Amino acid sequence: MPSLEQFIAQLPKAELHVHLEGCVEPEMLWQLARRHRTPLVEKGETAVRQLYSTTDFQGFLQAFKTVCEHLRTPEDYELITYDALRRLASQNVRYAEVTISAGVMLWKGEDVPSSFEGIAAGYERVRKESGIRVQWIFDAVRQFGPEAALQVAHTAAALKQRGVIGFGIGGDEQKAPAEIFREVFACARREGLHLTAHAGETAGPESVWTALDVLGVERIGHGLTAARDASLVKVLAEKQLPLDICLTSNLRTGVLRQMASHPLRQYLEQGVLLSLNTDDPALFGTDLNREYLLAQKTFGLTMKEMTRLAESSFRAAFLPPDENQIYLSEFGTTALYPRSD
Ligand SMILES: [Zn+2]
Repeated sequence: MPSLEQFIAQLPKAELHVHLEGCVEPEMLWQLARRHRTPLVEKGETAVRQLYSTTDFQGFLQAFKTVCEHLRTPEDYELITYDALRRLASQNVRYAEVTISAGVMLWKGEDVPSSFEGIAAGYERVRKESGIRVQWIFDAVRQFGPEAALQVAHTAAALKQRGVIGFGIGGDEQKAPAEIFREVFACARREGLHLTAHAGETAGPESVWTALDVLGVERIGHGLTAARDASLVKVLAEKQLPLDICLTSNLRTGVLRQMASHPLRQYLEQGVLLSLNTDDPALFGTDLNREYLLAQKTFGLTMKEMTRLAESSFRAAFLPPDENQIYLSEFGTTALYPRSD
């Protein structure tokens, strides 16, 4: 029998909710700071460590912003993409949908297609080395408002041929409710992009309802607070509308007090389609294998349940059914289901 860690490591997995900028490890941020001689160099490596030890949502946003400020050239993007995807591939992540904060790039006045060339170059190198497949989601920042978000949607649509397949919003749910983005999402849908939104993370279940009913999203980032509304959980299960679960993230940003109070077990029992994800692995000091292990230890998942979660991570992906079938077919093999389970 393999150990639990070995079992998790060999499971084929998809990661659907991971921010490229949140994959920048402290050492790499330090390297970028020295490369661009930013004020962070003066403050020293201790300041970098402090940024990465955040325990609330505002602290997290500040750390994320600092990383974004250090990404300035296509070469920077190539460097961080290569590093991030290599880490994913090393955990047997076969397929990933990586979110890029295009809203922040545009806000910084960056030429997004040029930056994306760097990202594509980093991906190409890892693809050749490992065979991992990646598609991209462009994320707008709620607080920047609908006009900025519309720019993100147009920029994403212009890069559809390069593997940008989705559009979403993230940031502070309290400051910018989903209603104001209705037209932006309608436009993104017309452009043929898949739709997602961070919702039910820092706001209640009403935020998830609006993402479903007003924005027409196909997937929800987090959906932590959906559990407070039984009728919402029922709808999510009936529609098989997936939630991207990010356990460590929820704890580290302070939206969840204790791991054990996360509704993962409840969602599974009620038939909600889930995937496990890291959100910002470097900022939260985690990786996907650790998230599976954490889920197992906290909720007492059986190996069969963990295998189902890994399988669900592909089912929840924005992949055409025929391509998805290639990944799902691996789960038909008995080798993935230990006999004792
Ligand atoms: Zn996220």
